[in-house]
Amino acid sequence: MSRINKICVLTSGGDSPGMNAAVRAVVRTAIYHKLEIVGSMQGYQGLINNEFMKMNSSTVSGIIHLGGTILKSARSPQFRTPEGRKLAHDNLVKNKVDAMVVIGGDGTFTGARIFGQEFNMPIVGIPGTIDNDLFGTDYTIGYDTASNTVIEAVDKIRDTATAHSRLFFIEVMGRDAGFLALRSAIASGAEAVMVPEVKTDHQKLEVFLKNGFKKKKTSSIVIVSEGEDVGGAINIAKKVADEHPEYDVRVSILGHLQRGGSPSAFDRVLASRLGVAAVEALIDDQKSIMVGVVNREVVHVPFNQALKNKKKLNPALLNLIEILSA
Ligand code: ATP
Repeated sequence: MSRINKICVLTSGGDSPGMNAAVRAVVRTAIYHKLEIVGSMQGYQGLINNEFMKMNSSTVSGIIHLGGTILKSARSPQFRTPEGRKLAHDNLVKNKVDAMVVIGGDGTFTGARIFGQEFNMPIVGIPGTIDNDLFGTDYTIGYDTASNTVIEAVDKIRDTATAHSRLFFIEVMGRDAGFLALRSAIASGAEAVMVPEVKTDHQKLEVFLKNGFKKKKTSSIVIVSEGEDVGGAINIAKKVADEHPEYDVRVSILGHLQRGGSPSAFDRVLASRLGVAAVEALIDDQKSIMVGVVNREVVHVPFNQALKNKKKLNPALLNLIEILSA
């Protein structure tokens, strides 16, 4: 018999499409198992400010298709301090919360791991980030939708790029990880991709420009992660334009539109499965774990493992770009 009576759910760090679907699943699963449930507003900051929203079945009606998060998200510097976390814990005790589900990225899980240890609070994490950079899960909530948003934008840029035989450098989100760039590059038929995990090979880029762009004289699209080592699309485009004044080089930075929009079917189903799994893990007395999916099955991964390991890009996918742009 579980000793848990009341759960608090929150969304933290960068928002991602599908977070609402995850909140809905957590709330409905708690109700299904006859547990009380509240939401903390603005991530960890709501714990510190004592800002809780009482959740019931109707507070999460009609949100499965909405981007953003009804619980709001925030970066909370106060939660990084022992004093801030003590305040957060005092408020959780005052509100009789005895377990938590946190939805966010690695920063959110780092905070959860520390907080869980300090106050012996059972916490389960749900991976919600468009970066897909969490070890221990094949997919994070929001990544699929963001990839679709990127390819829709690239398809449109391709039309104008082709009309003018232009070379476009398109920057996508990903300060430390190139998953979004790589997947979008394959799906949009980009000629090249530049990601933080791979040092930019200037010689290779030169060969690509000469053989790929100059010879074909149509358009070329290069997808660039914002964290790529030359310094993003603007810097790389400037370098190429300086060295090759004969090319018509353009830059497009997709920016925050990548975070928004209605979540895809994939992200809604993923969020629903993980929301159910998170609450059921708490009922089973699990703590300090992330729920994820590997080979389509739900898995439980200790925060420690998820945080200390770095998820790697699949080299076979990197190779695909080279083959397919021949
Ligand atoms: P994204 O991947 O989208 O950036 P994230 O969850 O990694 O999401 P962060 O801003 O890094 O986003 O972390 C979210 C919040 O987690 C922080 O604002 C802070 O409140 C808390 N947090 C992060 N690191 C720590 C830490 N070392 N100690 C305590 N709390 C932390």
